[in-house]
Formats: sequence, structure tokens, C-alpha cells
Amino acid sequence: MQATLTIDLGAICDNWRALDALSGPGTETAAVIKADAYGLGAATIGPALAAAGVKRFFVAQAEEAVALRANLGAEPEIYNFSGFMAGDDEAISKHGMIPVLNSAAQVKAFAKAHTGHACGIQLDTGMNRLGMEALEATSVAHDIAALTPDLIMSHLACADEPLHPMNAAQHATFNAMSFALPAHRKSLSATGGILLGAPFHYGLTRPGIGLYGGEPFKDARPVVQLDLPVVQVRDVLPGEAVGYGASWLATRPSKIATVSSGYADGILRAAKGFSLFAGSTPCPVVGRVSMDLLTVDVTDLNKVPPSLSLLNDTQTVDVLAEKAGTIGYEILTSLGRRYQRRYLNS
Ligand SMILES: *Cc1c(COP(=O)(O)O)cnc(C)c1O
Repeated sequence: MQATLTIDLGAICDNWRALDALSGPGTETAAVIKADAYGLGAATIGPALAAAGVKRFFVAQAEEAVALRANLGAEPEIYNFSGFMAGDDEAISKHGMIPVLNSAAQVKAFAKAHTGHACGIQLDTGMNRLGMEALEATSVAHDIAALTPDLIMSHLACADEPLHPMNAAQHATFNAMSFALPAHRKSLSATGGILLGAPFHYGLTRPGIGLYGGEPFKDARPVVQLDLPVVQVRDVLPGEAVGYGASWLATRPSKIATVSSGYADGILRAAKGFSLFAGSTPCPVVGRVSMDLLTVDVTDLNKVPPSLSLLNDTQTVDVLAEKAGTIGYEILTSLGRRYQRRYLNS
């Protein structure tokens, strides 16, 4: 019996509609489905979002754009955040990928190789990760004008902290830098930026995590449920140890369920103090997370069900992330290949 990751496509589409409703009619809402739609399956989620009305998708690598074209068909636009890199020619000319050009060198190379093909431009407004800084953008302003980019964008570093001064600073820098550049649309905001309000919306927003039910979109509908099968249940006497390092000792006569899934499936070994759920009843994970297995204290259950859930509406990706010292994004993108992905409301 395989662990099952249940993904609610209806909830993902509802989350997209809810995020779309937060901006005005002049703002289009795209969808970020990089990293296999945050681990949940871009081949299924992409077409579901397209059917819900998404016209523009974003990925982070050309290979993702090529794979998605086969799933999405010819119509939707697919942008690649990493721009134009060696080996990307076919993705552009054959699969219609729109590179978001990040440097003067990428602008020059793209203009030479793909004149007439759509492109985006990424400006760096303070994050210092991707995009051209002011001087670099000015140095190729003529080339950019000749390309008339489909999109001019930048990315906020601190949008999940609404009061952070970086937000206003990047907003002002984006206005100043993009002012003289022609473009069909401008874009500054991912999920966090959408929540910052209208001045951050421009012509296009690019939500990712909010679609998949994660913070900072607190009003999101939950999207994932992860059920792990119980392999066996044993009785453990007080003083007996459980798991590697004998790090947990029973203090009472205990029932321990051994559950299939471990750190090879993305259940982070660093996670502490989390539970698996029998329905709504939490059962603490005890002992260390091993590669393929977890051990769970089910002493207080009357009956041990065939599977226990790790992710559900109570223990969300953000709750689990907190216990592992990380963020919901990393919990989602770590979800293992060994889970059977089951889609609801397709
Ligand atoms: C990943 C990413 C997004 C989506 O961000 P979320 O916080 O998941 O909404 C948008 N834009 C860029 C440039 C990104 O790298």
C-alpha cells in the first residue's frame, strides 16, 4: 500500500480566483507552476488552471517550459524566469517559451538569435538575485525598446512582511526603472505582493504559494492531504527505546505504529514535535525520522486505522514547516516521488 497525496484541484482554482479577485479589472492574474507546481504536479495543475482562466504561466527553467507546452497546448503563454541561457533556442522557437531576460548579455544574445519573438525583461529593484540593475538596463535601453517586451517585471524580497520598508523602496525603484521602458504589461507581485494592495498590482500578478494553500495567503482553501499507511503496530514496555539512536524511551506501556514514509519522501528529519492524525486525533511521532519510516505513539487510540495523515486541514504545510524550522514552500517542494498523487475535482 502506497502513501497517498490528495490534491484538490478545485481548491487550487478557487485560490486562484480569490487572488484574482483581490486586484482590479486592469490586472491579469497569472500562475507560477515552477518546480512541478510546487511539488504537486504541473502536468495536471497547469491544464486545470488554464481551464479556470489562467492565460500566463511562469516556470524557472526552460526544460519545465518545454514539458508544460505538451500539457497546456499552444494557447497559454509560458514565461521562464531564468531568461535566455545556452541550449534554450528550441524551447523558444519550437515551444514558444517566453524568456524573461535578466542581463544585458541575455538581451543582446536574444535580440541576435530570436528577433521578433516575445520576451520579458526582469529588473533588479533591490533583491540582488535576478534582473538588471539601473545602469545595466540603461546600457541596453535601445535594444529593450526595439524588442518591445511583452512583460517588464521585478520581484519583492520581503512581501511576506507587509510593514517591511523594502516593499515601498522596491515599489518606488520599479516605477523609476520601468518608467521609460515600453512594455505590454508590468508585474511586481507574487502572492505576498498581491496582499499588499493595489499599488503593487500593475498589469499582471504572479502568485505561486497562495494557489497551493500556503502562507502568506491566510484565506486560502487547503489543498493537500497526505495519508501514510501503517505497516505494523507493536507493544513497547516502559524503558524500551524506539528508533535510531534509541532517542525515545517509553514511559508507559505503549503502542507504537510504524508508518511507511520517511526523509526520503520529504519528511524532514529536523522536524520536531509533530504528529500524525487518526481522523482529528493527533498521535505524536516519537523517535527519529528514518529514510522510509516513521514511528508514532498510538497508545491512546481505541483502534489504529490503516493509514494516518501527516498533512490535513489541521496540520497544514505551514504548521509542519514551523516544526521543521522551514517554510511551507519547502515542505511542498520536498513532497516525495513515492507518493501516489490523487487529484480531486478534476
Ligand atoms: C517563485 C516566484 C514567484 C511566486 O512566488 P510566491 O511567493 O510563491 O507567490 C513569483 N515571481 C518570481 C520571480 C518567483 O521566483
